[in-house]
Amino acid sequence: MRAVIQKFDGLILGGGAAGLMCAIEAGKRGRRVAVLEHADRLGKKILISGGGRCNFTNIHCRPDNFISGNPHFAKSALARYTPANFIALLETHRIAYHEKTLGQLFCNGSAREIVSMLEEECRAAKVTIFLQADIREVSRADEFRIKTAAAEFGAPALVVATGGLSIPKMGATPFGYDLARQFRLRVREPRPGLVPLLFDQPQRASYCDLSGVSADVVASCDGQQFREKMLITHLGLSGPAILQISSYWRGAEGISIDLAPECGITAVFRDPRLPRNSGSLKSELRKILPARFADRWLDLHTPTSWTNAALADFERQLHAWTVHPANTQGFDKAEVTVGGIDTDELSAKTMESRTVPGLYFIGEVVDVTGHLGGFNFQWAWASGAAAGRAL
Ligand SMILES: Cc1cc2nc3c(=O)[nH]c(=O)nc-3n(C[C@H](O)[C@H](O)[C@H](O)COP(=O)(O)OP(=O)(O)OC[C@H]3O[C@@H](n4cnc5c(N)ncnc54)[C@H](O)[C@@H]3O)c2cc1C
Repeated sequence: MRAVIQKFDGLILGGGAAGLMCAIEAGKRGRRVAVLEHADRLGKKILISGGGRCNFTNIHCRPDNFISGNPHFAKSALARYTPANFIALLETHRIAYHEKTLGQLFCNGSAREIVSMLEEECRAAKVTIFLQADIREVSRADEFRIKTAAAEFGAPALVVATGGLSIPKMGATPFGYDLARQFRLRVREPRPGLVPLLFDQPQRASYCDLSGVSADVVASCDGQQFREKMLITHLGLSGPAILQISSYWRGAEGISIDLAPECGITAVFRDPRLPRNSGSLKSELRKILPARFADRWLDLHTPTSWTNAALADFERQLHAWTVHPANTQGFDKAEVTVGGIDTDELSAKTMESRTVPGLYFIGEVVDVTGHLGGFNFQWAWASGAAAGRAL
């Protein structure tokens, strides 16, 4: 006996931030859409985001907060669904929020409020949700057909919103990339982003007992730089500055860290009354770095002499500590995936494939990756809305 095919105007694979926003926008326009989510609940990543408070957007969101093979691609979608649009949605649901730092908006209460809001919007827009949908096969003839373990679905439009590879234990899968390849769309090699870095063995021996120590630094790599906190961990480096720069690190080059941004530690030694010795240098360094780190740095980088040239060399090293990480902590610890569906394959206005009509990719599965600070959710909302308005 042939299975009954459940027909919709659009099928959305993945019930995370991007998929739900797409479903809501399409549903509000009267489209019959269904979300197929393989987990047992919607928006699991939203729930764990921002330490449980979800940094849902950033009021200073600009196209240069995103990494992509084509830096112009995200502009159109970001301009048509802005942080103000999402804030307005939040306010209609009376969800209280605050700016933490650098334009980052967080819920006052819990990330659960965001998921409940999206679920409520889905109900109002008559979106059908299928949880624990185990997708076995995707094909396309006159329309898209999806076979799950339990049912068969058909629709003229298929939206892939299955996210990236970060945090496999939260349900991340390579499904979106595999599907793109099935339809002969190019994929830019996915790699972990916003991820802690691992020291090699000698660096670990030199610094990791300082685990927990943090400092205000400028971390630079590949022409980018971020001034934020750096944290020493038991395995290497983390903290916002390091997470940010990790998205630009490709393995070969070093990361340069300025441990004393905008400070000249050794300038004071121009005063002949100040003795040039390790005691005075240590006390100057301790004004800038936490004492344990300052002491360790001095132990490992003791000036070769007390001449002006040797002090200048000490100063130079302090502003350009070059770290060659052994690796990143990988997708298990990465907040995002850099790379994904090549944006040359997609319309910047609708996220539809240029070669397979009716096939859309949105959210993190696309080669658009935000900086730390609410930008990744803003991309999920904006790309989801772009596709939802086109279905
Ligand atoms: C710990 C952590 C904290 C974060 N905090 C923030 C933050 O505060 N602010 C911010 O902007 N970003 C944050 N991010 C990044 C942000 O969560 C993602 O960029 C965003 O969720 C991407 O949305 P998406 O809808 O594309 O993918 P996801 O939210 O990952 O949703 C994809 C959905 O597809 C489902 N799925 C996957 N494979 C299949 C399949 N084969 N079949 C059916 N369904 C499938 C998944 O279960 C999931 O529900 C954080 C990420 C992590 C890991």
